[in-house]
Amino acid sequence: MNYPFSPPPRLLMGPGPSNVSPEVLAAQARPTIGHLDPGFVRLMDLIKGQLRAAFRTNNRVTFPLSAPASLAMEMALVTLLEPGDTAIIAQNGVFGGRMAEIARRAGATVQLVCAEWGKPVDPEAVRASMLEAPQAKLLAFVHAETSTGVRSDAAALCALAREAGMLSVVDTVTGLGGIPVLVDDWHADAVYAATQKCLSAPPGLAPITFSDRAVAAVMARTSPIQSWFLDLGLMLGYWEGEGARSYHHTAPVNALYGLHESLSRLLEEGLETSWARHRAAHEQLADRLQGLGVAFVVDKAHRLPQLNTVWVPEGVEDAPARRRLLDEFGIEIGGGLGPLAGRIWRIGLMGETCRMENVERLADAIAAILP
Ligand SMILES: *Cc1c(COP(=O)(O)O)cnc(C)c1O
Repeated sequence: MNYPFSPPPRLLMGPGPSNVSPEVLAAQARPTIGHLDPGFVRLMDLIKGQLRAAFRTNNRVTFPLSAPASLAMEMALVTLLEPGDTAIIAQNGVFGGRMAEIARRAGATVQLVCAEWGKPVDPEAVRASMLEAPQAKLLAFVHAETSTGVRSDAAALCALAREAGMLSVVDTVTGLGGIPVLVDDWHADAVYAATQKCLSAPPGLAPITFSDRAVAAVMARTSPIQSWFLDLGLMLGYWEGEGARSYHHTAPVNALYGLHESLSRLLEEGLETSWARHRAAHEQLADRLQGLGVAFVVDKAHRLPQLNTVWVPEGVEDAPARRRLLDEFGIEIGGGLGPLAGRIWRIGLMGETCRMENVERLADAIAAILP
């Protein structure tokens, strides 16, 4: 039996995925070639160069992991942590909590530095935690907390880690392409992102980069990495092999065509221009929402332009209202998670979605459903 499917038209203004351009979709429809084909190896090298530019790094070990970003989070932590290590993990939303869970499962002792949901990670609290656990191997934190719409000060946090002789693990899944991500300036050690947020490629790939310091720490492990798939050394035989690349897994060839196209578009626009576009659209959205009496959750100084969290307006029921936006206006926005479930909306202005006409379309739709 043949069950046809065609996706409904959607304006994706939630926490990801964001809308994908026709050019990226067309790139993904190109003929599949072998994942060890010399032509494909050339594409791998191009993508690694593009990712270095996007991350602002010269790190040799920079590549797209064939997986959603959750696995990049897992790779960063399980490759750097050995059983018995201590990890300092900042938690100010959902994703910091996941990092802590992964680190515990890797056998590490986790020292949590908690901040209220909706607030950034507090560098002073991190410093205090480092004084308590000077033996900790790394500090992990979320640069752009998608569950709350908060930006933390990655430069300051990475500097603290460096001063304390610890490695830094930075989740910038929602950051890359939307706000400055300066891996080398920050001296960050393991940094990862995703395709479906501000890069606007379909979900399923996770750019990741490791500093030489991080690679040295991996090589100095005394126990093997428990995960075969996430073993960085084995993975690099495929992504880095000189001349001959060894088979590790079958790369998602067509998805990588799409990533290459999306990175080409981003780098052609220019990172600074893209950051400015996200800021301008955010300001326009904030203006329109303020006019409608819809209030932001996060202080102005710590807001992510690409992920706007607002309190569900008075007299509006969360889920039915979001359903109306979807059914009547074709617009997806996100609901709250954890303690903020039912209380906030998460409005994404990421990558291709981040355009003034989309801001206007959403603001008009919200105006139409307000009581
Ligand atoms: C979306 C997101 C992830 C997880 O990405 P997946 O591709 O869904 O696995 C991790 N961290 C943050 C901050 C995110 O926003």
